[in-house]
Amino acid sequence: MKLLVTFSRKGGREPVIARTVKETGVLINVERAHIDSVAGEVLVDVPDSDSDLVCSKMREFGATVRILVDSVRRDEDECVDCGACISICPKDVFSFDDEWRLTLTEERCVLCGKCVPACPHHALSLMQ
Ligand code: SF4
Ligand code: SF4
Repeated sequence: MKLLVTFSRKGGREPVIARTVKETGVLINVERAHIDSVAGEVLVDVPDSDSDLVCSKMREFGATVRILVDSVRRDEDECVDCGACISICPKDVFSFDDEWRLTLTEERCVLCGKCVPACPHHALSLMQ
C-alpha cells in the first residue's frame, strides 16, 4: 500500500521514516522523496497488513499520512488510446490490452507527474 507522508521540519528534524521503521519493525520502501529545510513529502510503500500500524506511528510523530488508492486517474471520455503515456512513465503504469486499449496498473504509480503534460488530450490527472 502506498502512503504519502508529509511533515514539517520547522520544529526540528525528527526522522519520521527512520523512527517508524525502528519502532514498528516494518520495512518501508521509499519510492520518492522531496525534503528541504522546512518540510518533507515522501511516498512510501508498506505491506498492506502493516499499513494501520505505520500510519498511526507516523501520525504520532506529527506527520500527515494519506493512503493512496487511486493515485493517477484517466478520463475515459477524453482518452483516445494513443499510447503517448506508455513510454513516458518510469513505472510501467500504462500498457495496451489485447485490443489496443489503454490499461492502468495504478498501484505502481509514484506520483512523479510526468504523464500528465504528456497526454495530448488532457486525460490524466493525479490525486490531489
Ligand atoms: S496519452 Fe492520454 S490519450 Fe493517449 S493513451 Fe495516454 S491517457 Fe489516453
Ligand atoms: S505520475 Fe509518474 S509514475 Fe504515475 S502514472 Fe504518471 S508517469 Fe507513471
